[in-house]
Amino acid sequence: MSARVAGFTENEVEYYSRQMVMKDFGVEGQRRLKRAKVCIVGLGGLGSPVSIQLATMGVGLLRLVDRDVVDVSNLHRQHLYGVDVIGYPKVEAAAERLNKLNPHITVEPMPLSVTPSNAEDLIKGMDLVVDCLDSMAPRYSLNRACVKLGIPLIHGAVITQIGNATTIIPGETVCLECFQGGLDDDSLPSCAIVGVHPSIISIVASIQVSEAVKLLLGKTPSLRNTLLFCDLSDLSFERINLARMENCPVCGSQPRSNSSPIAHEPFQEICGREGRRVFVFEPDGGVNIDLKALYRILEGQGFNVDVRAKLGTSFSRGPVKGSILVSGVMILEGFNSSDDAVRLYDTLIKS
Ligand SMILES: [Zn+2]
Repeated sequence: MSARVAGFTENEVEYYSRQMVMKDFGVEGQRRLKRAKVCIVGLGGLGSPVSIQLATMGVGLLRLVDRDVVDVSNLHRQHLYGVDVIGYPKVEAAAERLNKLNPHITVEPMPLSVTPSNAEDLIKGMDLVVDCLDSMAPRYSLNRACVKLGIPLIHGAVITQIGNATTIIPGETVCLECFQGGLDDDSLPSCAIVGVHPSIISIVASIQVSEAVKLLLGKTPSLRNTLLFCDLSDLSFERINLARMENCPVCGSQPRSNSSPIAHEPFQEICGREGRRVFVFEPDGGVNIDLKALYRILEGQGFNVDVRAKLGTSFSRGPVKGSILVSGVMILEGFNSSDDAVRLYDTLIKS
């Protein structure tokens, strides 16, 4: 039996009873969460536990942004997904799963890459943004958009057995470019090359959620101007003070509107498993794929259409594997030359 609480159904009161009973939380805390709008960018390792926790805690609106489809190599750490959704757009599979975990919230799937030109639109109207990305270029775009629109950004990053997190509040704390402005993706290791331990992901993601909930409840987050660095190998937690950079191009006294440290590349090659070449196409806005027409072209080119989802598709032909989302993002693996990959992309997009 659960008591009646204004603004909540009896089912909701029962669902949230174990957190509403907490002294710092209460009914008012639950109301704040229900009214909250949170954008989670990246639905891989960090995005899985972050979205599961925020959804089940009752954040009223979750906007999910990701450009990938589920791969079997994700499953050891990305617990949003099972073998039944391999090849599905992550945002689509995640939205379905989160709504099953908590039917009382709204989930908005956005099958997109974050680029300099769409970052602001993606986060407009949100109360906060959680950075669960795994590369720097979209992080810089997100940071710039958050600083410009005054939206808090909770940054997290993990690799092998180490991870870190900090809470960026525009106008109050450092921004990402104050302390990581010099990093680019070529100088950073990737999970495909050096791997990642699921435990460090859960730790960092839980810290991000705890910071997010503090902000949503109107409390002071703990990682302002502080980078929490965690290393599983000796289970050490270190707090590193961060200082705002007076001449930061984003949040300094004279912000410069020139481009991020890394420009958006609509076509790039990334390193896949076992040194395989992976080609990523991320058009900077404006594409809307007709999936039915796309299937016909793929089949005409001798491809098997393996997954027909609402927001994208996965296909294969011999050693070549690919996925394409309705936003025009395409990831291709198995071609030896970039020319072949570009030719296929042109054929499919011009449809
Ligand atoms: Zn800054």
